[in-house]
Amino acid sequence: MSDGFTTRASSINRALDQIGDKWCLLIIQEVLWGINSFNEMMEAMGVSRGVLSNRLKWLQQVDCLRREEDTAGSRRPRYHLTSKSVDLYDSALMAIAWERAWYQTPELDRVELVHLNCDRAFSPEMRCAACDELVHADDASYSPGPGATRDLREKKVRRRSSISIGEIPSKRALYKNLINVVGDRWTSNVIALSYHGFTRFDQFHQELPVATNILSDRLKFLVEEGIFEQVAYQQRPRRFEYHLTDKGKGLFPWFLTLLQWGDRWCDPEGLGQPMVVTHKVCGNPLRAEVRCDQCGGVLRAHEVRFDLGD
Ligand SMILES: [Zn+2]
Ligand SMILES: [Zn+2]
Repeated sequence: MSDGFTTRASSINRALDQIGDKWCLLIIQEVLWGINSFNEMMEAMGVSRGVLSNRLKWLQQVDCLRREEDTAGSRRPRYHLTSKSVDLYDSALMAIAWERAWYQTPELDRVELVHLNCDRAFSPEMRCAACDELVHADDASYSPGPGATRDLREKKVRRRSSISIGEIPSKRALYKNLINVVGDRWTSNVIALSYHGFTRFDQFHQELPVATNILSDRLKFLVEEGIFEQVAYQQRPRRFEYHLTDKGKGLFPWFLTLLQWGDRWCDPEGLGQPMVVTHKVCGNPLRAEVRCDQCGGVLRAHEVRFDLGD
């Protein structure tokens, strides 16, 4: 591949390169809701036929959707989750938790999540499997794992979209603000780097060989969205660092679900984790679990009911 570049191997980047584009994130959200025919998706997402069919093809290629002919006679194929994409359930739950914490979304506020095991309405929360403490961005430290190589990545992502998600008339938009913030390759990569302590333009640029105007544009967007705040570290000329806000730190559990998903499903060479995350609170390797805040049980897709209050 001539038009490529390499970055530090990262399960988050691998996961994002597979499912991190806005439309892919939206499709997975819809299928989690049980919307699984082409026409239903098109109506629910307000997406064009061409874009939808492109993303559906891509998601099948990376084994996140399985197409099945409908035997009931309508001849419309249905798209189902695979074991790989069902495993993104944690990520969807943490997306909902973040969206609820930082936005008022009437559609989402009406939805009640019920944990069937304890029969209670709950909020998902992320805890360390070893010490049971809530997981926070500041409590993680990073070291290279056995798979700490470099990844060759494509410079141009064919799955491109410039539409703002705010304009998408998605009816069941459970976490569209999150998708708006992270559903772009560079914004999500920049946020992921910031958890490693990166704060300056040059640091981001060294890791991400993207055009400087694009990087500036994404940093500005993330400041506007309240993910970063600018802090001046030099007066003449005035230069800024980009520090994560509480809202930005609040996205950490979502990124961590993707990291764990990438460790499990996006390790083509079978080398093992590119990066080991340690939970500083207890000193153990961080294995994060998404749990019910009512009974403490680990949440599984078939044990959660979505109630749409009217
Ligand atoms: Zn711990
Ligand atoms: Zn429960």
